[in-house]
Amino acid sequence: MDTRIEQLCVDKGMKMTEQRRVIARVLSVADDHPDVEEVHRRASELDPRISIATVYRTVRLWEEANILERHDFGDGRSRYEEVTDEHHDHLIDVKSGQVIAFQNADIAALQDRIAEKHGMRLVGHRLELYGVPIDDGE
Ligand SMILES: [Zn+2]
Repeated sequence: MDTRIEQLCVDKGMKMTEQRRVIARVLSVADDHPDVEEVHRRASELDPRISIATVYRTVRLWEEANILERHDFGDGRSRYEEVTDEHHDHLIDVKSGQVIAFQNADIAALQDRIAEKHGMRLVGHRLELYGVPIDDGE
């Protein structure tokens, strides 16, 4: 069965090579916002012929087509995730680089209220929280 990414590519008239299908599968099951190197590592396990250049080209193409969303969480690496209707925000552990996805109704309502106060209706937002584990004693 096609993944959602593969279906979107077909809908947009993109050529789907076997290697692109592998990359689509890797990104579809990822829930950790992998960077290109990590996507390449996982794709290589499924098809060792896939080069990092192919992964780069493919994620850039899909980003431009609004199939993938690119994030820069401050460590200079571009990370990717599938664009979905379900929005979430990100909490980044700056020590480990781990990204936690979360949804919070209070924050969403507060953002709406702020926009409304300024005579606007929100059509999008980007919220990134950066932290370190409390156990580190910092
Ligand atoms: Zn995310």
